[in-house]
Amino acid sequence: MSGWLKVVGLGPGGAAQLTPEAAEALSAATDLVGYHTYLDRVSRRDGQRRHGSDNREEIDRARHALALAADGARVTVVSSGDPGVFAMASSVFEAVEAGPVAWRALDIQVVPGITAMLAAAARLGAPLGHDFCAISLSDNLKPWPLVLRRLEAAAKAGFVTALYNPTSKARPWQLDAAFDALRGWLPATIPVMFATAVGRADERIDTVDLAGARAALADMRTLVIVGSDATRRIARPGAADWIYSRRYVEEDRA
Ligand code: SAH
Repeated sequence: MSGWLKVVGLGPGGAAQLTPEAAEALSAATDLVGYHTYLDRVSRRDGQRRHGSDNREEIDRARHALALAADGARVTVVSSGDPGVFAMASSVFEAVEAGPVAWRALDIQVVPGITAMLAAAARLGAPLGHDFCAISLSDNLKPWPLVLRRLEAAAKAGFVTALYNPTSKARPWQLDAAFDALRGWLPATIPVMFATAVGRADERIDTVDLAGARAALADMRTLVIVGSDATRRIARPGAADWIYSRRYVEEDRA
């Protein structure tokens, strides 16, 4: 039997947002590898082995998955959302680059998923309809001053910015520091969107102005979207506002 490795995105939460290609990779696997919390979202199958690990052990997890595939196993590594967005696909390729040459000949495939910012944007309306970027706010893997410089560049360039990993118990002050900095570069009226646990039973969506943006509106399952001057808010009676970004810019103010 020849092994393979698929790095699969489970989407943001609900089964309806798991692609048929991802479902196929999950059912064809002999071995599932991933962070416990994500593996718990995959239904159990007889004879399938599960290798759960802690959130921070990504490179070890990737090496383990590659070693299993090199031994002939059909291995599916799971990520939430899309596996290429702040997730396991990069760790797998990092392990391949540093690992035995034989790993380069393995059958490796990345199976895309719906990333959190797209699921969140769809709930809100169309906030990513104009130019946008994504930044991980986590300073576990990069220095905080670099995070701030990228935020500043994005804000000043007029990008709508999706913030992944906005806060956690270990990173309690960064998101408020980011909002304080953004208030120096952007108008106070720009919409800031908080989409928490999108696609799950406890989904929550809040939109406030930048002036009122607070880290208390977010937790580690929140995707924050900071609007730009193309971002508009349509008030609706008895329902959340629609948020969208216009597709055109009237004048170049540079
Ligand atoms: N690979 C994932 C992102 C992993 S980083 C993806 O493509 O979505 C983890 C961050 O993703 C979280 O801190 C949060 O910002 C965001 N996220 C993941 N799932 C989410 C969900 N269901 N709702 C809102 N944000 C989510």
